[in-house]
Amino acid sequence: MIWTNWARTVSVTPVRQEQPASEDELSDAVRRAVREGHPVRVVGGGHSFAPAAATDGVQLNLDRLNALHRVERDPDTGHALVTVGAGMRLHQLNRILAERGLAMQNLGDIDQQSLAGAISTGTHGTGARFGGLATRVRGLAIVGPDGEVTRATPTEQHDLFEASRLGLGATGVLSSVTIEAVPAFDLHAIEEPWPLDRVLEGVHDLVADNDHFEFFWFPATRRALTLRNRRIEPGTHTGSGLGSRARKLAGAARTFLDEEVLSNGLFEVTNRMATAFPATTPTLSAIAARALTARRYTAPSHEVFCTNRRVRFREMEYAVPRAAVVQVLAELDSWQRSTGENIPFPVEVRFAPADDVWLSTAYGRETAYIAVQQYWRLPHDRYFDAAERIFTAVGGRPHWGKLHTRDADYLADQYRRLPDFRRARAAADPEGVFANPYTRQVLG
Ligand SMILES: Cc1cc2nc3c(=O)[nH]c(=O)nc-3n(C[C@H](O)[C@H](O)[C@H](O)COP(=O)(O)OP(=O)(O)OC[C@H]3O[C@@H](n4cnc5c(N)ncnc54)[C@H](O)[C@@H]3O)c2cc1C
Repeated sequence: MIWTNWARTVSVTPVRQEQPASEDELSDAVRRAVREGHPVRVVGGGHSFAPAAATDGVQLNLDRLNALHRVERDPDTGHALVTVGAGMRLHQLNRILAERGLAMQNLGDIDQQSLAGAISTGTHGTGARFGGLATRVRGLAIVGPDGEVTRATPTEQHDLFEASRLGLGATGVLSSVTIEAVPAFDLHAIEEPWPLDRVLEGVHDLVADNDHFEFFWFPATRRALTLRNRRIEPGTHTGSGLGSRARKLAGAARTFLDEEVLSNGLFEVTNRMATAFPATTPTLSAIAARALTARRYTAPSHEVFCTNRRVRFREMEYAVPRAAVVQVLAELDSWQRSTGENIPFPVEVRFAPADDVWLSTAYGRETAYIAVQQYWRLPHDRYFDAAERIFTAVGGRPHWGKLHTRDADYLADQYRRLPDFRRARAAADPEGVFANPYTRQVLG
């Protein structure tokens, strides 16, 4: 059976696919694969652009390991610790949390990923004070190559914990994940088209002054769509239910970003036009950028963070030192202008604080994430090659789940804790049962 990822960048034929329904069945599946001499990889939502989940061995799908196990209070901090099956999708997790008056502290653009897949590749959102999903992990259950389950926390099996909370599944199969949730909150969202120069002149203040700031820049134009979100107390609605007025406003705003900008039929049509008639792209982008009108609304956090992305695309995203963001965008702009490259998709720019997760793209430095995206029917190689040259010149670190060409030598210079990661991985999986060509490329 052929397996293909969401972006249609990876296609493989595993020797078999299995979908265990319990941790015991998962352990058995791993033991069986090892006995037969097959490598093992887990696939989550298949939303990585990189071949992270690819294998010609046994591919495990944990969609049935998606139960809520427990909600408890951290005895020291009083914070909510929520343990769920590792295959749980983020949209399910968001709903379960909302029903309990809780929320993820921060989220990325979509909610289709599995929790394990999202943390394993360093999935992140935006916000100068709010790190990626892996920074919220407080415990893991990991099935090793012998099928045994090891519990790892910051204090128990510390190195295995650090290597596994963002480790591309290279240390074993995560069967459950404990995350620290926060009390439910709403986001007051302001979405406005701005001249790009206004954004770039004030970018560091915008990042500092807003809980969650990001922008989309339309190449070949000097226009950007800015998104500023402020965290506020939840409104009168409770749980996952929205009041009808709030729902209407949130719906209108979702329509704005989803339907007008990124994911709907109209955007599909403009991308098809740009594919058939490349010369129209700058005009289409200028129209799209100018057509945007300002919106303000308030809704529960996960409804604001996550959108539907229905127009298929390919993506490369690099984490660069935050201080380099203006220079990097200027270089991308000048490359696009000098080549006239056909780029109907906007460039997405987000921000994160420095964190301490060994393989986090934001490890030890304040970060700007710059994502170049291309409509899937258009070639992306020349664009992404040029972008990658610009990103790597400032010490950029590629998103582990997105397209890039970096190898373990390059990444060793970027990740001070890579030797620690390798030691923990060698102890957990000495024979490389959980390796695939991608982990060999990036981790050695
Ligand atoms: C439309 C779209 C929007 C996106 N938006 C964002 C965004 O806003 N921010 C961002 O940072 N990224 C974003 N991404 C990237 C995405 O979040 C990551 O690629 C993520 O890994 C996908 O999760 P998944 O469940 O699909 O994992 P998969 O792609 O299926 O797997 C990812 C990795 O996790 C491993 N893995 C999965 N489950 C387990 C397990 N139980 N145990 C051990 N290893 C496991 C796999 O083997 C693989 O190495 C986006 C991707 C798409 C297609």
